[in-house]
Amino acid sequence: MKKELQIFTFNDLLQHFPYRHIDKTEVKKIKDITPATEYIQVAGKVISCETIGEKRSKRLVAEITDGTGTLELTWFQGISWVEKNIRIGELLLVFGKLSFFMGRPQITHPETEVYTAEKSEGKAFLEPIYPTTEKLKVRGLNGRQIGKLVYTLTGLLGEKDLPENLPDPVIHSLQLTTRYQASIHIHFPPDAGCYEKALDRLKFEELFLAQVRLGLIRGNRHRYAKGIVFTQVGNLFNSFYEKHLPFALTGAQKRVLKEIRHDTARGHQMNRLLQGDVGSGKTIVALLSMLLAADNGYQSCMMAPTEILAQQHYTGIKSLLKDMPVEIALLTGSTKKAQRKDILNKTADATLQILIGTHALIEDKVQFNRLGFAVVDEQHRFGVAQRAKLWEKSNVPPHVLVMTATPIPRTLAMTAYGDLDYSIMDELPPGRQPITTVHRYESARSQVMDFIKNEIKKGRQAYIIFPLIEESDKLDYENLMKGYENVKAYFPEPAYWISMVHGKMSNEQKEANMQRFLQNDTQIMVSTTVIEVGVNVPNASVMVIESTEKFGLSQLHQLRGRVGRGSEKSYCILLSGNKLTADARERLKMMCATNDGFAIAEKDLELRGPGDIEGTKQSGMLNFKLASIVKDKHMVDLAKQLAEDLLNEDPDLVSAVNLKLKTFLQQQKGQTLWSKIS
Ligand code: ADP
Ligand code: MG
Repeated sequence: MKKELQIFTFNDLLQHFPYRHIDKTEVKKIKDITPATEYIQVAGKVISCETIGEKRSKRLVAEITDGTGTLELTWFQGISWVEKNIRIGELLLVFGKLSFFMGRPQITHPETEVYTAEKSEGKAFLEPIYPTTEKLKVRGLNGRQIGKLVYTLTGLLGEKDLPENLPDPVIHSLQLTTRYQASIHIHFPPDAGCYEKALDRLKFEELFLAQVRLGLIRGNRHRYAKGIVFTQVGNLFNSFYEKHLPFALTGAQKRVLKEIRHDTARGHQMNRLLQGDVGSGKTIVALLSMLLAADNGYQSCMMAPTEILAQQHYTGIKSLLKDMPVEIALLTGSTKKAQRKDILNKTADATLQILIGTHALIEDKVQFNRLGFAVVDEQHRFGVAQRAKLWEKSNVPPHVLVMTATPIPRTLAMTAYGDLDYSIMDELPPGRQPITTVHRYESARSQVMDFIKNEIKKGRQAYIIFPLIEESDKLDYENLMKGYENVKAYFPEPAYWISMVHGKMSNEQKEANMQRFLQNDTQIMVSTTVIEVGVNVPNASVMVIESTEKFGLSQLHQLRGRVGRGSEKSYCILLSGNKLTADARERLKMMCATNDGFAIAEKDLELRGPGDIEGTKQSGMLNFKLASIVKDKHMVDLAKQLAEDLLNEDPDLVSAVNLKLKTFLQQQKGQTLWSKIS
């Protein structure tokens, strides 16, 4: 039980919540089963029971009848145990999840018990059904047995064993049941209404406690964590802003810079998450911040998830700073030895002011002399631990600006990144025309190619993206090559030139192909998703995505963001096969309907659930047992609001009314999987 279900203590058992309740007196008739029936409880006589198959396909199959029909029961594990306990002619109460095989209903590994007359009498009783594992089931610890254990446990518990942990005013204003009551009723509710109330209370508790914890971390950092102070806006920042900035900043960019300026002047470490839709211009904000650091005598670094992106940042920033006295370098895995040595020396003696790179930046060998500002671009590719390595590169932790690849749904940001301060850039630079997105079936490929030809005639460029779909690299590679040959047939040399980038190429090859595309020496870029994040070629106006149904929403939005970066009208064409799942259809519809990354992020969360959104798993913050940040959105908001109000009034939880809360949090410390997310 311990290993299988991660239940080690009474408390764990109490928090092993039932996934549903059934009315035990409700015994269904087999004839009433429809293909839509999910779980069922029936009572029937065993009419046959035999072992069939050999070795791995060996199974025990029994058949029961209740006079209205027959139902098949199957066991793959624990066969000898079950065999001993099932007798032909015996009346069994059977519960389980239905499946259909050749149209016939069956239950695999059902929960069974001998059915006696008195069991069928008595008043309605909501019996909890618990998640269990097959292994435990065959050892006799099925969902019902777990229920018995929990029942015994709850009988032993009194109100003082489960003291209230929420402040009275919160309980009263929301009319929540007590913690004790809810903890019992979630397992054994007298009626459905009590169950709902218990569920509400416990969900709220989860969300509220999480928000208080995050708020405490944030508050402590604001008030106690020492940070480097940037006292002034100096020459570098000002002269760049006045003389070299190629465009006027958007209102959103200015606002975020102001927030950063404010954060870095207070004497506390900044930990800021910058969310901006693709193309909203995050890079320039990072650059200006790094100049601010340099003005104050500090070094900065900027970490990107791929070589291509690091290289692009370096080239772009270098050219923006070409007339300015700023020492800047690029460090990646492919930096040559001699050059690497030189860079490391200059980093260590502080002659280097801005260091741009990939993961290479967080290697131990990279020693900064005065690191004051660290930018992490497109953060979802970096794990928390990797980021933590950055903070350790300086005695006083550097200010940190984390920039996201795509917008994160609001509720997710509030929970997974709630300890960070966060800025939103919801404004695109002026003069951008919205990208037109259309869906086409693969049968329309030649029209799509003609469309690209037309755009190229106007001087524009196009991307054609292939998904990584197969388990094996080899198949993906072949798939891409086939695609490439196909594209080449439409666009023969020397009238057209094609670049190609994929994961199997050396960095030099990738870089060379990127450069040719960037300089418009090639008109078409055929690529896998390596191109997904951050790449900036403003002259490209067409994005064709092959087998779109294989991509997730966020990824599609990121890919689409590679076009529409200049002043020309841009297009995104989503190619797909004819067979589409309902989910795929919805993704395509959403992409065609909006360019708003925030709306798309919300939809993505809704379709996939939080567990699958990249970068959220390791945050450890989404281990809610009952609450769902998708389905209980309004409760997430409410919990956050109330937690904020409470901490504004009593930031260290010293007042009497918050004593219960404080005591509880202190007891929990060390018990829960709780790690600081930075
Ligand atoms: P992202 O937020 O996706 O990282 P980038 O920083 O790559 O976006 O910027 C996208 C493009 O927009 C770049 O070509 C950049 O030079 C341009 N850009 C950024 N800010 C502005 C602005 N205020 N006005 C005009 N163009 C801008
Ligand atoms: Mg970017």
